[in-house]
Amino acid sequence: MVLFYILLFVVGAAIGSFLNVCIYRLPRGESIVAPGSRCPACDMPIRWYDNIPLLSFAWLGGKCRRCGHPISIWYPVVELLGAVLFVLAGWKFGSGAGLLPPLLLISALIAIFFIDLEHYIVPNVIVMPVAAAGLGLTIAVQPHRWAELLAAGAVSGAFFLALALIKPGGMGMGDVKLVVALGFFLGKAVVVALFTAFLLGALVGVAMITAGGKSRKSRLPFGPFLAVGALLALFYGAPLLDKYLSLFGAG
Ligand SMILES: [Zn+2]
Repeated sequence: MVLFYILLFVVGAAIGSFLNVCIYRLPRGESIVAPGSRCPACDMPIRWYDNIPLLSFAWLGGKCRRCGHPISIWYPVVELLGAVLFVLAGWKFGSGAGLLPPLLLISALIAIFFIDLEHYIVPNVIVMPVAAAGLGLTIAVQPHRWAELLAAGAVSGAFFLALALIKPGGMGMGDVKLVVALGFFLGKAVVVALFTAFLLGALVGVAMITAGGKSRKSRLPFGPFLAVGALLALFYGAPLLDKYLSLFGAG
């Protein structure tokens, strides 16, 4: 069992390393396959031994081997996030095939969190294949849930589409596709993801207005809130859903 968690940690860190490449290159329209990674300052190709998740950052002291250009702290942070979330998923979902959809969802959410935060987009090239794979994988593992998953994706998508049409400039089409994907993975627990995202969005929005004065009108991307909400729903969806429902007198 310890080996299982060590394996998940290592795989999670490696996926995190791959997600770093996606997070940097996808919004810039660059290939995630070639060319290999280079130092942005001196253009030196990064060798495999300087590209080992978490470890390389530590033994390079967070600097390029040749020119000393600082490497962003976000690289090891994303790798550690992948490692920790993969281990947590193994603890929650066990070592069977049921672990695959959560691992895919976690990977997609990490990439979307950081890309949307910086670029205000939820790339189609991530969300479309992940939605399709999520639906396929989850139904393969839990065939009896097909109607629930489809309904959760369709209803969430319709709700967000309505929001996007009513108030243009708020939700984007990327958010609509993202919540469809979340419904496909989470089923009815998607309610927890959406509720949490709106709650967090409101809290952070108020905090930013308070901190920056009333003139601050900068729009917040919604994807990161959805990503955090979806992680919460993934791990604690069922008990939280019961709580929310009982709050509204429906439980
Ligand atoms: Zn360099």
